[in-house]
Amino acid sequence: MGKKIFLASPHMSDEGYEREFVKDAFDKNWIAPLGENVDNFEKEISEYVNVKSAAALSAGTAAIHMALKALEIKENDIIFCQDLTFSATVNPILYEKATPVFIDSDYQTWNMDPVALRKAFEKYPNVKAVIVVHLYGNSANMDEIIKICNEYNVPLVEDAAESLGTTYKGKHTGTFGKYGIYSFNGNKIITTSGGGMLVSNDEEKIKKVRFWSTQARDKARYYQHSEIGYNYRMSNIVAGIGRGQLKVLNDRISKKQKIYDNYKEAFKGITDIEMIPEQENVRSNHWLSVITLNPNSKVKPIDIIEALEKENIESRHVWKPMHMQPIFEKYDFIKVKDNAVSEDLFERGICLPSDTKMTKEEQERVIKIIKNLF
Ligand SMILES: *Cc1c(COP(=O)(O)O)cnc(C)c1O
Repeated sequence: MGKKIFLASPHMSDEGYEREFVKDAFDKNWIAPLGENVDNFEKEISEYVNVKSAAALSAGTAAIHMALKALEIKENDIIFCQDLTFSATVNPILYEKATPVFIDSDYQTWNMDPVALRKAFEKYPNVKAVIVVHLYGNSANMDEIIKICNEYNVPLVEDAAESLGTTYKGKHTGTFGKYGIYSFNGNKIITTSGGGMLVSNDEEKIKKVRFWSTQARDKARYYQHSEIGYNYRMSNIVAGIGRGQLKVLNDRISKKQKIYDNYKEAFKGITDIEMIPEQENVRSNHWLSVITLNPNSKVKPIDIIEALEKENIESRHVWKPMHMQPIFEKYDFIKVKDNAVSEDLFERGICLPSDTKMTKEEQERVIKIIKNLF
């Protein structure tokens, strides 16, 4: 059996930047959830995506939770949330005992459908926030979504966990809404082993988030607390890895683009296979290359997944929509037509190996196995 090929695995820089920053933290004995690497990582991310302020946290999920806290989301508040996503987008809504309403996707972006969003606003005009996601590195239709949110004067949170480096009309995903979040989990385009970032142009609110995430200690000589605190801060060691990784983010995006282009070229002749769409005005980070199979195709996603698995190659289904999850199925789901787009993409989609460590030859192995099924 050949060497294992991963969907997306950690890829440290050849130059060893990450080690340098971590070594520096050791040398200064700054092994704490605060320190120079944390401050600088926040600054460097802010500069990269062009936003005023950032808070480095223990996870992307923690960043979504803090965004909801900063928006003063309370029990029973209604939050519109993209249906096609990972459960981590939704869970923080439940941490605050608020109520998610799921919004279907469109085929152009795979993300929140503005038409469904408008329909949801008509049904729930008292909604408190919208959470849009930029899946697999694709951007949502930001012009339309921002327009609708502004019309109703409702704040937008962008889950850009999978789309760091993706731009829409030249502007970074994660910087359109009131708050944006990024993830540095092990499989993301850059990783710190685990971690997240909340970004916003509201510097005061970001300061407040830093306060909440370090246990909400009042300014006093003793431990005094007037608010609920969280232990959500990123450690100085982890931030060191992040600073090193940020230096190679653009290289990683180029490699991901090549991987996508190779698949696209290879599957050109197979009418049953379609690539996840590339949009005009969007530079995708192509975190994962995803394909969908024609509904009439004799080959089903599971056939491809199993054929690859036999050869020690990782692939997986597209995210199972939130309205189909046992834990979330009691919440409302807004779609435009009878057939949900999210369900259709789930049923027909496969995430292919998109590991930046994958060689051209390894990708050829993947392609050959898939082609042989048709
Ligand atoms: C990875 C991911 C998250 C969660 O990020 P963590 O850092 O793992 O907590 C949230 N949303 C989406 C869409 C993700 O892919």
